[in-house]
Amino acid sequence: MKNDCVFCAISEGEIPCFKVYEDDLVLAYLDINPFSEGHTLVIPKAHYTCLLDTPEDVLQGIVARVKKIAAHIKATLPCDGFNVLQNNGLAAGQTVPHVHFHIIPRTGDGEGEITFENHKGDMAHLAQLAERIRMA
Ligand code: 5GP
Ligand code: ZN
Repeated sequence: MKNDCVFCAISEGEIPCFKVYEDDLVLAYLDINPFSEGHTLVIPKAHYTCLLDTPEDVLQGIVARVKKIAAHIKATLPCDGFNVLQNNGLAAGQTVPHVHFHIIPRTGDGEGEITFENHKGDMAHLAQLAERIRMA
């Protein structure tokens, strides 16, 4: 764990999460303040700050997992589409300096403004939702 990094603490089991998927390389869990129902974060278990210091092979592995997890979420929720969001640096809105990819399920026809707005998560609901979409 690096510099009291909250995502390292989650990956090491020191802070609980609503887990959706885990393997040797990545951990995926629900965002506690989601933009939308099923908003999931995919992180490498190892600490890298952002896209630029993450090795290519790790990135390739993460993106392959993002695809697999997003396909599963889309089929399970279900939703009509999803955004993959990845912020780098404070100026870009990165609040947790441990590289991560957001999978943000979307519904509807895409008409109107697409917004990314956190909503305070209901912990009991997130626990149920994670159970529903957790991947074997
Ligand atoms: P960023 O703005 O850095 O791209 O996204 C960080 C995300 O992590 C935010 O959407 C925020 O709600 C989420 N987050 C921050 N702390 C925690 C936490 O302890 N647990 C979970 N599950 N999500 C967190
Ligand atoms: Zn970290």
